Amino acid sequence: MDIFRKCYEWEEAKSAIRRGVYPYFRALEGTEGTEVWFEGRKILMIGSNNYLGLTTHPKVKAAAALGLEKYGPSCTGSRFLNGTLSIHHELEEKLAAFMGKEKALVFSTGMQTNLGAISALVGRNDLVIVDKDDHASIVDACRLSLGETKRFVHGDLDQLDRILGKLESDQGALVVVDGVFSMGGDIVDLPKLVKVCKKHGARLYVDDAHSLGVLGKGRGTAAHFGLQKDVDITMGTFSKSFASLGGFVAGDADVIDWIKHFARSFIFSASLPAPNTMAAMAALEVMETEPEHVERLWDNAHYMLKGLKDLGFNTGATETPIIPIIIGDDELCFNLWKELFDAGLYTNPVVAPAVPQGMALLRTSYMATHTREQLTRALEIFESVGSRLGIIGARAEALAL
Ligand code: PMP
Repeated sequence: MDIFRKCYEWEEAKSAIRRGVYPYFRALEGTEGTEVWFEGRKILMIGSNNYLGLTTHPKVKAAAALGLEKYGPSCTGSRFLNGTLSIHHELEEKLAAFMGKEKALVFSTGMQTNLGAISALVGRNDLVIVDKDDHASIVDACRLSLGETKRFVHGDLDQLDRILGKLESDQGALVVVDGVFSMGGDIVDLPKLVKVCKKHGARLYVDDAHSLGVLGKGRGTAAHFGLQKDVDITMGTFSKSFASLGGFVAGDADVIDWIKHFARSFIFSASLPAPNTMAAMAALEVMETEPEHVERLWDNAHYMLKGLKDLGFNTGATETPIIPIIIGDDELCFNLWKELFDAGLYTNPVVAPAVPQGMALLRTSYMATHTREQLTRALEIFESVGSRLGIIGARAEALAL
């Protein structure tokens, strides 16, 4: 049998493209952060992870340009060999201090960070336990790990407690959760989680991809709850609030040194290029010295959450600038996405397997740099499209009866 047969026969994406309703891989022709160009049209971006809007910050752009000028566009090698730059060490020291940890280690992407760090830590006799809504990079990291993987229902820390209760005395356990869940926007119950982990001697690894620059005055989930000492490892990405590309882990020096020598995605891949390293460093400095960005982000998030709820949209359990609009049916979700897109709003439709089947949602996310005028315009578009499709308003009420 031809191994490519499935590819030639796969019609789903091709048919959606033919019908003009395929929402993915849409190429933007330019971006100003909150507004982007698509097919010569300027549309409002409410679907990016650029929470602090720092991709357009002059200090961040200048730092990336300086990195390019001084070191060129590529390190042409792994950190292990010729690819370590002094600015990697400088960034690691600053990140460790920012996170209140002994040491940090910078990877080339957030995905590689989770793949490498988790698989390096979870050995043959160990157990890794993850929340069912954890990011795909954590799921894949578990597949790469030599130990056993168990999953608990999203947010069900009593189930986690029961799983850990069955741990053998010679078995090590690592619990891995998202600090802010990337689709629902809800925050992990860290105080309870810390208690459960400590009760069973399990170590705790928190993926703060969507929390850094957002929670705890930018310092993430542990800082938000005042529990920095109780989270063993924090992982972060530079592809969101840090306005760059890359990722890192921060924790005890001995643990970070272990990851440095055993994480295959770290050792066998080229290191983070200088422009990205310098941009992340500048973004970190901005987060420390210009607190107004985090404040504006929260102002905008609260404005949109109230606005969308008042219109009658189901925004689930979000507490953060990630605001899902829960639709349920895939086709209705794609229709809503298309109508919003045509009306000038960029959002992200999310269907299974990224969310459970029948829980299709539009993921919207807000930035510090959105103006009130832009957000008011977004709400007006949501109101007119949502009522036309019967998702909110009189038609929605009639359908529910
Ligand atoms: N963890 C989480 C929770 C994420 O949302 C993402 C990216 N969306 C990653 C890890 C991977 O990060 P990156 O895009 O930097 O590879």
